[in-house]
Amino acid sequence: MPEIVKGSVSEPIVVQPRIIERERTQENVYKNIPRGWLPPPQVEKRWTAIVIHHSGTETGNAAIFDKWHRENRHWEGVGYDFVIGNGTDSGDGQVEVTFRWRRQIAGAHCGGTPGNWANEDAVGICLVGNFDYTVPTARQMQSLVKLISFLQKRYGISKSRIYGHKNTPGARVTECPGKMFPMSKLKSMLAP
Ligand SMILES: [Zn+2]
Repeated sequence: MPEIVKGSVSEPIVVQPRIIERERTQENVYKNIPRGWLPPPQVEKRWTAIVIHHSGTETGNAAIFDKWHRENRHWEGVGYDFVIGNGTDSGDGQVEVTFRWRRQIAGAHCGGTPGNWANEDAVGICLVGNFDYTVPTARQMQSLVKLISFLQKRYGISKSRIYGHKNTPGARVTECPGKMFPMSKLKSMLAP
């Protein structure tokens, strides 16, 4: 039933059901959000974009990439904010939150951008898999859409500011997130 807003007695103003529906969808973005997705309010940054990566490996999880990035890149730890598993070393579609997100510090996932903007201002999400040869699992895609929708809503990020690594303005030449990553399908599942 359409919500009736107080107007004059003779002509009540009826809120359009379409608008109510959109508001409900936006509310739903916050429903069943894992606690770890909400950053500590004292340190929360204003993120302005999202960069999607693949791991380029068939298996892995946040702890494995953390070790690899420490030992081979000599970084403080895993370069991404979130890692979405494929059922090998973590659950299929499981979203792991890394220390970078918990501390709201710059990432190490998209180097070479002017002023390091993508590491500073964009949320880095890595899906486990090598999408030069396969596509993400259905559960990975579901989790990716849920996570991006949450980030879009919280930071007001439009679809045009969601990039694959290779299409990130100023990024070094790369195939990441893989030749077969379904970017247009993903965009069709997201809010504008
Ligand atoms: Zn990448």
